[in-house]
Amino acid sequence: MNLFEQQKPLFAISSCLLGNRVRYDGKDQALGDILVSLKAKYRLLPLCPEMAIGLGVPRPPIHLRKSSEGYRAVLIDQPETDYTQALCDYAASVLQQHPELKGIILKQKSPSCGTGKTKLFDEKGTFMSADGWGVFATEIQKLQPSLILIGDDAL
Ligand code: SF4
Repeated sequence: MNLFEQQKPLFAISSCLLGNRVRYDGKDQALGDILVSLKAKYRLLPLCPEMAIGLGVPRPPIHLRKSSEGYRAVLIDQPETDYTQALCDYAASVLQQHPELKGIILKQKSPSCGTGKTKLFDEKGTFMSADGWGVFATEIQKLQPSLILIGDDAL
């Protein structure tokens, strides 16, 4: 990496937004033309919390379901399978490994990465509202409130 590249601020980015096929259904969510200007301004560090905790592609989808401990990231078809703690641990490890991180660009509406528009479900799996934050994004915000978090819909 040349000196110019090194001097750009480091932003992490949901890997699917870079065009990587890491979504549960094997697809991506590539941003398109705006990636050119993002790459010109920032060093981009791709991350996919769900892949990082060992979930493969394709994988059964998860959603956010209310429990006595708040909202949890669980398998839709098998809600006793709970990935909340693993996603929180991954958030902590990202911050620990990349202290120079200035912000994260996150895929909106995801139960892991979402920033305020993720669907929330009650204890029985019935839809409640679409104003939740993903577990990874919530934990990042809790651990390092000063970090800039940008949903892809705000780009
Ligand atoms: S939204 Fe987040 S967890 Fe889902 S595929 Fe994209 S990077 Fe992975």
